Amino acid sequence: MQHYFIWTIGCQMNKAESQQIAGYLDSAGYQAATSLADADLVVLNTCVVRESAENKVLGTLGLLKGLKDEHPDLQILVTGCFVNSHTRELQRRFPHVDLLFRPGDFPELIAWGRKRGAFVDQRLLGGVYPEPDSSVALFPQNDKRRRARNDTRGALSPCALVPIIQGCDNFCSYCIVPYRRGREVSRPSEEIVCEVRELVRRGTKEVTLVGQNVDSYGHDLPGRPDLADLLKELDGMDHLVRIRFLTNHPKDMSLKLVEAMASLNKVCEHLELPLQSGDNDILKAMRRGYTVEQYKELAHTVRAKVPQISLSTDLIVGFPGETDEQFERSLSLVREMRFDVVHVAAYSPRPDTVASREYQDNIPVEVKKERLNKIEELQTTIASQINSKLLGGTVEVLAEGRKGGKWFGRSRSNKLVFFEDAGDWLGRLAIIQIEKTSPWSLGGPN
Ligand code: SF4
Repeated sequence: MQHYFIWTIGCQMNKAESQQIAGYLDSAGYQAATSLADADLVVLNTCVVRESAENKVLGTLGLLKGLKDEHPDLQILVTGCFVNSHTRELQRRFPHVDLLFRPGDFPELIAWGRKRGAFVDQRLLGGVYPEPDSSVALFPQNDKRRRARNDTRGALSPCALVPIIQGCDNFCSYCIVPYRRGREVSRPSEEIVCEVRELVRRGTKEVTLVGQNVDSYGHDLPGRPDLADLLKELDGMDHLVRIRFLTNHPKDMSLKLVEAMASLNKVCEHLELPLQSGDNDILKAMRRGYTVEQYKELAHTVRAKVPQISLSTDLIVGFPGETDEQFERSLSLVREMRFDVVHVAAYSPRPDTVASREYQDNIPVEVKKERLNKIEELQTTIASQINSKLLGGTVEVLAEGRKGGKWFGRSRSNKLVFFEDAGDWLGRLAIIQIEKTSPWSLGGPN
């Protein structure tokens, strides 16, 4: 049996697409390899949202070249935001790659499989999985192996990522994503519901609906359904236990969505709401489309309507021209807002973006690092205080797996929880009494 290994760098959207690619490969008779060394086919799903991520991609491509030199039969497929529209140029630079396909361009992947003499069930293109006994092949396989794999299709991870919208129309000045993923394209809601139903049938208990901007969902579909409509429909699905979604855009998040979060039982109390800067002039230069005051008002509304909400945010430090005072505004807003989680990144210019063309990257690296450290230090203290309040209480945890001899999973508010128990908790809800807390996780009984 041939084995595949998917190497994912980047965001939840990439992780979701890697899950879809795994689904295609499973259907074609491949089996997931436990390590890169065991793989006959490697898919590298890339991110170039920051320079550091792009460097990681280049390093990984170099490593894969070495592997291919040793094992010329190894197939290497590359997707994600590294793959721009100049695939010929990329192919020339990386001749050891067998296929480069743009993010979400599964028809290209399938066409590649077809060229290799395979056929594919068209339902896969819509994320609709055939019944386990269907005969589906993406790559040439012998029937015996295909049957063997199909027979094992069944239970999935309890938590799945489901892409609902591809691309982004926002063109924030620093962001490369719209240039690589293109304009927004929503998946029809029937297709999403069908995929979630199938995931649930195969054992998934929690879905996270993902997109670069889930608040734009549906504006390009007939009847203009929105995310709140989709959540309502999924909330009624039997055996689905939890629903999450990300990422939101403060400019586009509607009151209707906040009310849906407050009223729908399965929608978890967690929101990813990127702030990016605590200074209005920087937000303007970033072309974010909201002010600090509007952000705060939205966060206040969410907290008033969903009191248990945990708020996560993203921040960029060292944007071109960011003065000490402007950075201090970001720092003091983090102090004031008391987010549960802050993902902070140092600005790096990305090719093609407005910021890289119009602004000079004039904040020294050491200053960026110092600002990043200050945000992280402050947030560690805040997260530690927030989490310590949960000590002695109970949280509902959906067990996702085992790590270091303990079960782990997430609470509804997205806190990572570890607990020990001899029973089999995979995919089950456990009520855990919190006996230990840290800024990053909670611990139940040992
Ligand atoms: S909303 Fe802005 S930061 Fe997010 S993907 Fe779109 S352009 Fe990039």
